[in-house]
Amino acid sequence: MEHYHDRRLVEQTWGSSNAYTGSNYTDYPYFPTLAKQLLPNLRCVQVVEWAPMSDNVYNDGWDLKLKTPDGDGAATAAVASSQLADTSLDCMFVYFDAVDLAGHSSGFSPQNPSYMQALENVDVHVGTVLNALYARPNYANENWLILVITDHGGIGTGHGGITYEERHIWWIGSGSAVAKQQITGPDPGTYNLLGTGIFNQSGVDQAKLKQSPVQADIAVTALHHLIYETGINPETYPFWVGLDGKSWLSQFSGVDKDMERNNIKVFPNPTTGIVTAWFENPTNDHVTATMLDVSGKVVAQHNECSSTNKITLDVSGQPKGMYVLQIKIGEQLLTRKVELK
Ligand SMILES: [Zn+2]
Repeated sequence: MEHYHDRRLVEQTWGSSNAYTGSNYTDYPYFPTLAKQLLPNLRCVQVVEWAPMSDNVYNDGWDLKLKTPDGDGAATAAVASSQLADTSLDCMFVYFDAVDLAGHSSGFSPQNPSYMQALENVDVHVGTVLNALYARPNYANENWLILVITDHGGIGTGHGGITYEERHIWWIGSGSAVAKQQITGPDPGTYNLLGTGIFNQSGVDQAKLKQSPVQADIAVTALHHLIYETGINPETYPFWVGLDGKSWLSQFSGVDKDMERNNIKVFPNPTTGIVTAWFENPTNDHVTATMLDVSGKVVAQHNECSSTNKITLDVSGQPKGMYVLQIKIGEQLLTRKVELK
């Protein structure tokens, strides 16, 4: 199992601790880092009350990481709201700590008034953040996806065990592209681990895991939404094979899950330098071919103004390795992995 997702969430889910020991954000970066490999100009901001989420993490792709004081969430909502006024903002992550703190101090229980009050406070402050989002000057022309999740429940004054109360979570997707529905997949049983350690999944039904929204799906769904204009599906993008989690965007919106069409042929592949792509171009659209290296840097590009169904790029002289060829035909983007030998 490969994790690129927020390690704190993973470790809490798997009954470990808040230690970031052994995290490998170089190989498993946060989703903003991955999104920027395709769209480098995205602006992504994180606003959190819990410092380790900022301080112990690297290669996370945030342009700005803001630590807000613990409290009922009002200060965090105010900071998040001011960031949302920035018209260049594309992505924001906000973390409220108050519900967790209340649970630890007096009990994770609907019978605990302090816990319920903390939850209602955060609910109000989430509303404040949403109102700031709706107030963006160009909101009507933007396409925001709002994802809300908890990383765990609790029992008594703790969490970290394997009970249903600790591990069963809710998650919410909302936005203009989201059809109103309840996703009622089978329980994959992640809360009932038989094995130990974060890489032992013997208690999880892998088939059911794909049928229910689970925690790691949040990051992949957010990533898919951020890069939607590229037409790339994060689950099938060659450089991201093995993402921990799936995208629920297609289930939300009913659009075709795999926007990549199969009407493209790339020869030779592997190549020693010259690559030619053949494709369908029935409406004689303008075509652009771009070769990206593994970091998303453009290493070769070619524009074809006249109508064509064939385009050639020369990448000889580039370091050997894997590249991604993007062919843009009108508004359609096709991608293929290319190996340079
Ligand atoms: Zn906690």
